[in-house]
Amino acid sequence: MMVQAIPSIEQVKENLTKVKERVARAAERAGREPSEIVLIGATKSVDVERIRAAIEMGLSHIGENYAQEAWAKYQQIGDAVTWHFIGHLQTNKAKLVVRFCKFVQSLDRLALAEELNKRAGQLGRIIDCLIEVNIGGEETKSGVSPDEVEQLIRQVSQFPNIRVVGLMAMPPFLPDPEQVRPYFKRMKELFERLKNLDLPQVETRYLSMGMSHDFEVAIEEGANMVRIGTAIFGPRPFKGGEGK
Ligand SMILES: *Cc1c(COP(=O)(O)O)cnc(C)c1O
Repeated sequence: MMVQAIPSIEQVKENLTKVKERVARAAERAGREPSEIVLIGATKSVDVERIRAAIEMGLSHIGENYAQEAWAKYQQIGDAVTWHFIGHLQTNKAKLVVRFCKFVQSLDRLALAEELNKRAGQLGRIIDCLIEVNIGGEETKSGVSPDEVEQLIRQVSQFPNIRVVGLMAMPPFLPDPEQVRPYFKRMKELFERLKNLDLPQVETRYLSMGMSHDFEVAIEEGANMVRIGTAIFGPRPFKGGEGK
């Protein structure tokens, strides 16, 4: 097996600069301000030294997939950045995650919402949540189907310690990002439809979609949050279950 080297600190900084430029150009093509796009560094398996380097270069949002790993990094990095939980979240990890994550982007079921609400309530916090949508209808991926999103939002709107702030999607991985465009378009349509729901604790502002190989297409189609790992921090060692 070929093992690709982890990029140097200098490379991480250069990568981040390039990614920011590409985000800005994609925003401009879509007739939007670059500052409207929230760039999240997806840092699963990335060490604290490299995350710190990116923070020094102005990265202010971090997305993590595994609760324990994220917590260990939080203890070293603290509130210098905004923490997002972007991976599949087990109900029994909600208690830990609400301690330091402002956003949970992978809300995909009522039982998880109940637990997040309860645990956030115990800390007197409100957690900003995005509903994860399985836009490709893939068996291997988490997320609710597009027709179930509204119902879940209505149920979650009853919870005082959760605020629904948007939708998140991980479309199918297709080698040519142009092939992903139709999925992004469908997400945008859903987002526009749900934006007008007039519910308490619901303010659908963020459309989180686009990763290293397709974020420009996602922004062109209306994403205002992108989650980028490899293009900034280099390749990761493969981990089973990733993307769930
Ligand atoms: C890993 C991950 C990303 C970033 O993926 P890259 O292809 O490395 O940019 C984005 N979103 C989620 C949910 C992830 O797990």
